[in-house]
Amino acid sequence: MPGGKVHTAITLATTTGLVVYPVVVTYGNPYWYIAGAMAGVFLTPDHDVDGGNFTDTIIRKVSYVGQKVWRVFWTPYALLLPHRGKLSHFPILSTFIRLGYILLAINLIVWIIGLVSKILGGDNTVSFVFWWNWSFFSGLVHVDTLHWVADQLIKGKEQFIDE
Ligand SMILES: [Zn+2]
Repeated sequence: MPGGKVHTAITLATTTGLVVYPVVVTYGNPYWYIAGAMAGVFLTPDHDVDGGNFTDTIIRKVSYVGQKVWRVFWTPYALLLPHRGKLSHFPILSTFIRLGYILLAINLIVWIIGLVSKILGGDNTVSFVFWWNWSFFSGLVHVDTLHWVADQLIKGKEQFIDE
């Protein structure tokens, strides 16, 4: 199983490489497509690992507190989905589920902030947060699929696990 460093390298190589080019010139917005592929570094299928993943290592280098917040955000997802299962790793399906989780989690956080604000006597004008972009989604599906392929091809080589 390739580790986080290998997956991140594949993601970045894809994003910056020629593989993206024929896709972006024929479909969608190329900038959102590249943004989606780049986001794949942090929105990795490996958020299903209970103890965290390579993104924690990256964020910890910038902010210790930020990494803790990041881990709390992804903990329910990690506990709900089995590692390398179809729901977290299978192409297209897993990308929908991961982005759906983010939207749900953000709306839950916004709702809690609104509730606390209301209790404290403040304004409670929170509304449902929603954002979707098919080009962004396609870029993320692209790198998620490569992640899945890499996991399938390098199955069992546990020495590649680095984080
Ligand atoms: Zn994986």
